[in-house]
Amino acid sequence: MRITFERLIIFIITTKPTFFQLVTTIRMCYAQTMLIDFHSHYPSPNAFVCTAEPVKEAPKACLLRFEGLLPDKWSEEKQKDLYEIILPDNSIHMGEIGLDKRFAEIIPIRRQADILREELSFAIENNRLVSLHCVHSTGLMLEILSEFSYRPFSIIWHGFAGSSETAARLYKLDVVLSIGPRFKGSIKDIFKANPCTVPETDYEGTCEEVYQAILKAQYNRFSSELNCTAEEIINRQMICKLISH
Ligand SMILES: [Zn+2]
Repeated sequence: MRITFERLIIFIITTKPTFFQLVTTIRMCYAQTMLIDFHSHYPSPNAFVCTAEPVKEAPKACLLRFEGLLPDKWSEEKQKDLYEIILPDNSIHMGEIGLDKRFAEIIPIRRQADILREELSFAIENNRLVSLHCVHSTGLMLEILSEFSYRPFSIIWHGFAGSSETAARLYKLDVVLSIGPRFKGSIKDIFKANPCTVPETDYEGTCEEVYQAILKAQYNRFSSELNCTAEEIINRQMICKLISH
């Protein structure tokens, strides 16, 4: 059966699945070759499509729609817009949001942390997934995440570029790691520390061919480092999590 966007939304609203139940359902419904992109800015039917600031218009295509607000774009007005877009529609998730030390002169990092706490509270209270952005603020992000209690695997750390030690700590916090093309380390080592690791493109361009090439290359890299098929990349996360419980 090929899943439709409407069916997926009904599934999410009625069953409130965990991140992995969601991924597994999507996987089972799609053809075996389907490659899910866990963080993109390019509209695609297989992607978790995120924004860096609130956009009222829905993307042309997406698997899941996320609306976010990064520290360099932040204003009280935009944060209000963000909540107003997300609140009435259960199918809209939150992301990307987070911490970025490069913008500490625009918004001090402690203020960024307080904004993030408020946004996370909103997302958790309203049962939404979160796509997190984190640049040079790993320690503070870990501190913030450990303050909250949320559904396991409802938070995705996008563009993960940290160490295996950080990956392991995030596994204990039930956080999904999403790895993009810019990651220079060993996916195998990260995966060993946190089996809840998935691929993303973070593609911000507009060319379909380029987008597909990046997505395929990212899955190929996962496949060769983890010695498994593209389908198993998604499937294996679920198996590992089940075994560990
Ligand atoms: Zn992004």
